[in-house]
Amino acid sequence: MYSTVLQCLEQTALKYPDKTVFADVKESFTFHDLLKLSQKIGSFIADLVSPQNPIVVYMDKRAYNLLSFMGAAYAGCFYVPIDSQMPSERINLILDTLQPSMILYDDATADKVNNISSSIIKFHYETALKTEINDDALSRIRLNSKNTDLLYVLFTSGSTGIPKGVTISHAAVIDFMDWICDAYSLDDTTILCNQAPFYFDASVPDIYIPLKTGATVFIPPKSYYTFPKKILQFIETHNINTLIWVPSALCNVVNCKAFEVCVPASIKLVIFCGEVMPCKHLNVWRTYIPSALYVNMYGPTEATYACMYYNIERVFADDDKLPLGKACENSEIILLDDDDKLAEPGIIGEICISGQCLSQGYYNSKEKTSAAFMQNPINTKWREIIYRTGDLAYQNEHGEIIFAGRKDFQIKRLGHRIELGEIETVILSLNEVENACCVFNEDNSDIITVYTGKIDSNALADLIVDKLPQYMMPNKFVKLTSMPMNLNGKIDRAKIKKEYTEG
Ligand code: AMP
Repeated sequence: MYSTVLQCLEQTALKYPDKTVFADVKESFTFHDLLKLSQKIGSFIADLVSPQNPIVVYMDKRAYNLLSFMGAAYAGCFYVPIDSQMPSERINLILDTLQPSMILYDDATADKVNNISSSIIKFHYETALKTEINDDALSRIRLNSKNTDLLYVLFTSGSTGIPKGVTISHAAVIDFMDWICDAYSLDDTTILCNQAPFYFDASVPDIYIPLKTGATVFIPPKSYYTFPKKILQFIETHNINTLIWVPSALCNVVNCKAFEVCVPASIKLVIFCGEVMPCKHLNVWRTYIPSALYVNMYGPTEATYACMYYNIERVFADDDKLPLGKACENSEIILLDDDDKLAEPGIIGEICISGQCLSQGYYNSKEKTSAAFMQNPINTKWREIIYRTGDLAYQNEHGEIIFAGRKDFQIKRLGHRIELGEIETVILSLNEVENACCVFNEDNSDIITVYTGKIDSNALADLIVDKLPQYMMPNKFVKLTSMPMNLNGKIDRAKIKKEYTEG
């Protein structure tokens, strides 16, 4: 096993120095470029920041982001990607939790970075690129690094309104890459089309498969995903053979009838993860590109992208549910019932994960970590940490695990994980609002906010538009004179959901 992902990069760069690793529409980098430029950035960081500290990479999504990610790793630090479109309130919450040592930015975020107060060191990444490689410093750092060191922290939506920073080590990523590359024969002929933003775990395979295999990743402009015909043409032009996307992006291709314009014959493997993939949409993909292998993967950010997989080899009816399948190598899945006992086959239990894939917990948040990562109640003999996902599932008669929804109010919308509580916290923070509750309509992915207060719905929408990422914006606001309450004196969410999302 490699000790860090850098060892992986160095071996691959030696084998394929002139091969393209990451390319967007403006720029492309070979493995040699990636190696040398990230060593420059690493030397720059190492001069100013000691190892094991967070380096925020606050940039527009471009191929050069990857140089900073690897630069942070060369400095023995870990990277935290923040998107240029993220609202400043969310960024401030993330920075509060993180207390980062350094922010690397680009032209797109230069002005916004200047508005960030505090003593954080801020540099344009091009400044870092002008640094000479300091081999001595990088070797010293490497001597002290271990595979349990953090590689990155990704922030997911937190139910208290404070985003949670999921910590992931080099070892977790290396282990997952070993498995996925072996299981799907990924190699130097693999060509990927990145869809997910880099602050989202769905981009992790796109970043690390090339480092291990010599594969190439193309990063199309974000706007292409709103015009799926363009993305299919992009795939065809670049001879892309492997897609690792969220189901929403695959569904969008179908909904926009993009296959009527272009059917890229190059596609051989389609992996999706992150939310339920409707069989109706999958069947359209299978009709147009029948020779590709389709794989349903399951996993939260806390499990380094995926911990279960299901290769789709039989026919599924449009209204069937795709199995989540079985555990990936070095991951174990147990389903726990309400009494923390193993759920019998056919009985719904909470999906709990253990194994090398697991995060070390939430950054700077002991309480949240111990609420989700705990001793396996089935094992009373030695320390074995499981992550309780809050997802429900059961085992069918073939031993396959079938997804049965969320335990709490976390939802998935357009591929993004959202906790409705986070939206409520933003709305409730407004003086004009007394009470608020958000519900989700799974049929059309609408978020409906029911609230009481002294503000009409249009004015409320205007007030929060700058406080939430677009994918978290409610579709509808309903003003009530009083909030429905249940017998316990709590907001009656079930009643609100029934009233505003059904029929
Ligand atoms: P994230 O941490 O953003 O990757 O979101 C993780 C959550 O996405 C999981 O806890 C599930 O609720 C959901 N999820 C992931 N994969 C699948 C899948 N294959 N089918 C249904 N839901 C999924």
